[in-house]
Amino acid sequence: MAQISINIKEGTLKREEIIVGIDLGTTNSLIAIIDKETGTPSALRDADKFAIVPSIIHFADDGTITVGRSAREHLITDPEHTIFSVKRLMGKSYKDIAAYQHTFGYKIIDDDAERLVKIKVREKYYSPIELSALILKELKLRAERLLQCAITKAVITVPAYFNDAQRQATRDAGKLAGLDVLRIINEPTAASLAYGLGNQDKSSHTIAVYDLGGGTFDISILRITSSENSGDFFEVLSTNGDTFLGGDDIDRAIMDHWLQTQHVDGNLLSATVRQDLRLTAETAKKHLGSHGEFTGNVDKIQCDLTIAELETLITPLLQKTIQCCERALFDANLNVNDIDTVVMVGGSTRTPFIKKSVSAFFNKPVHDEVDPDEVVALGAAVQADILAGNQKDMLLLDITPLSLGIETMGGLMDVIIPRNTKIPTAAGRQYTTSLDGQANLKISVFQGERDLVRDNRKLAEFILSNIPAMPAGLPKIEIVFQINADGILQVRAKELRSGVEQKIEVTPQYGLTEEEMAAMLLDSIKNAKTDMAERAIVEARVEAQNMIDTCERFIEKNNQYLNEQEIAGTKSLIDNLRNTLNSDDKDVIHQQIEILNEFTRPFAERLMDMAISQAMKGKTI
Ligand code: ADP
Ligand code: MG
Repeated sequence: MAQISINIKEGTLKREEIIVGIDLGTTNSLIAIIDKETGTPSALRDADKFAIVPSIIHFADDGTITVGRSAREHLITDPEHTIFSVKRLMGKSYKDIAAYQHTFGYKIIDDDAERLVKIKVREKYYSPIELSALILKELKLRAERLLQCAITKAVITVPAYFNDAQRQATRDAGKLAGLDVLRIINEPTAASLAYGLGNQDKSSHTIAVYDLGGGTFDISILRITSSENSGDFFEVLSTNGDTFLGGDDIDRAIMDHWLQTQHVDGNLLSATVRQDLRLTAETAKKHLGSHGEFTGNVDKIQCDLTIAELETLITPLLQKTIQCCERALFDANLNVNDIDTVVMVGGSTRTPFIKKSVSAFFNKPVHDEVDPDEVVALGAAVQADILAGNQKDMLLLDITPLSLGIETMGGLMDVIIPRNTKIPTAAGRQYTTSLDGQANLKISVFQGERDLVRDNRKLAEFILSNIPAMPAGLPKIEIVFQINADGILQVRAKELRSGVEQKIEVTPQYGLTEEEMAAMLLDSIKNAKTDMAERAIVEARVEAQNMIDTCERFIEKNNQYLNEQEIAGTKSLIDNLRNTLNSDDKDVIHQQIEILNEFTRPFAERLMDMAISQAMKGKTI
C-alpha cells in the first residue's frame, strides 16, 4: 500500500512511497534512491556534496552523539569514545572476536563469552545493533532532509557470507532506527543490479564481484538466469574473502615502509603522530591513482612514495585476493573463462594497479563505470524500486556456507544439506533405533565439513520421545531439514509408523566468524584422509557393538535350543570381539566379526528353520 506523506516545502501530498537503499558498510555507509525524473539510482549527498558517511560514531562527554565525517576527526582526539567497524561485531559473541579485540580502540565487554558483545562507552552499554541503528538514523535523517518527507522503508545490504544471526541483527538495527526493512540483500547482488546486469538478453550470465573495501575483501560468484515469465534469478554460486584485508592494510604497509626505510621505531611515536602518518599514507595512496609520485612529511619523517614502490607494497595483498578468487571459482566449479562479467566494488578498487591485476587474472576488462564507493547503495535503491513495484520482479537466492547434518552412531556426521546449497531448500533422510523398545532418540544438529561431529559446530539438540516400543531397527524415523528464504533452519523428526513428531527451529545465538568458517573448510580438506580412516574405524566399532548385542540377545532368548558348546563358544567369541573394540585397526575388528558370524551361522540357521516349521505346524487347515 502506498504511503501518503506531506511535502513540507510545497505543501503538497506525495502519494508514491519512497523506499531507500542503504549500504551499511564497515568503513563507509551510503543511502540512495531512484531519481523520479530519470529513473536512475543516485546517492544522497550532504551540503558539501559528499555521499559517503563514514561508519563512525562519537560520544561526547556532554552526551552529544555525532555520526559520520565529524565523528571521524575524534578517532585521533578521543579514540576511547569513538566507535568504528561496528559491522564486524554484528551478531557476534565475545568469544568470536576475542582474538582481535585489540584492533578496536574502544572497550568491548566480556561478561559472558557466549552472549552477544556489548560496547562500553562512558558507563553506558551499547549493542552493535544499537550502534548500527545510530548510523542508519543518520542516513535516514539525511534522506528526510533532502526529500522533505518521512522515510520509513528501506532495503539494506549485507555481505553474501553474513549468517542468519548477522542478517537478523542488521534487520533489528533498521527497526531500531525506525525503518521497516523490506529486504536484506547481498552486497554483490546489489552491485550487479546497479550495473543493470539483470536485464540482459542472455538467458544465463555469470558474474564475479570483486569487493575490496577499507578492512574487508569479498569475492562472490553470481549467476543470473533470465526467463520470460518469472523474471530474473540471482544466485550466489560461491563466496570467499578475507575479513581482515583491505585498504587499511595498504595504508599500514605504506606507513611501515616509511618507518623502516628511515629506521624509525613506530612504537616510540605518539598516538597523534601515528594517526597523522596513517592518514598521510592514505592520502599518498589516493594521490598515486593519478600521479607518478607523492611527497610529504609528518613530524620529522619524510613521506615520499612512487607508483613503483606502492605497487611493490600492494603485491602481497593483491596475491591474497587472487587466491580467494581462485578458491571461489573452484567452489563454484568454474574456471576463469566461465566468467562473463567482472564487477569492481569498494573504494580500494580505485587503485589502477589493482584494477589492472584483477583484469589480468580474469582475462577480460573489468566493469568500473559506476562509482565503486556508491555501487552497492545504488543497487540497493534499484532493489527498493523493484519492491515498490516499479520494475519487473526479480528473485534473490542465497546459499548455505557450511554443510548441515546430524550426529549418527559413533559420533559420525551425517550431512543432510551440503554446503553451497541454494536456499530455500529442504532435504530429509530416514533413520532407525539401535535398541529394542527404544522410546527416545536424541537428534543433534551440527554444522561443518568434518566427518566426526566433535570437529564440527553443534547448532541444536532435541529429543524425539514417545516412540512406541518396537524391536531395534523397526521404527522409521524421518528427519527433515528445511531452510527458509531468510536462512532459518527448521529440523523436524517423525516416526512414520506411529506418526509421533517433533520439531525445532534453529536460530543460533551468534554465528561463525568467516575465519572460523574458512578454518573449518581448510580443516576438512587437510584431514580428509585421517577423517576417512577414522570414520572406517568408528563404523567397524558400531557394527561390532551391534553384532555383540544381537548375539547376546540371541543366546539369551534361545537358550533351550542350543547346546552347551554352542553357548560357551559364542560367549567366548563375543568376549574376543569386545576386546577388539578399542583397537585402532578396523581390519582386526572386521576379522573378529567374521569369526563370530561364521561360528553362529549354523545354529542360527537351524533355529530359523525350526521356527519356520513350528509356524507351519501351528497352522490348521
Ligand atoms: P567498506 O565497504 O569497508 O565500508 P569502502 O568501499 O568505502 O569500504 O572503501 C574504503 C577504502 O577505500 C578505504 O581504505 C579508502 O582508503 C579506500 N579508497 C577510497 N578512495 C580511494 C582511492 N581513490 N584510491 C585508493 N583507495 C581508495
Ligand atoms: Mg562495502
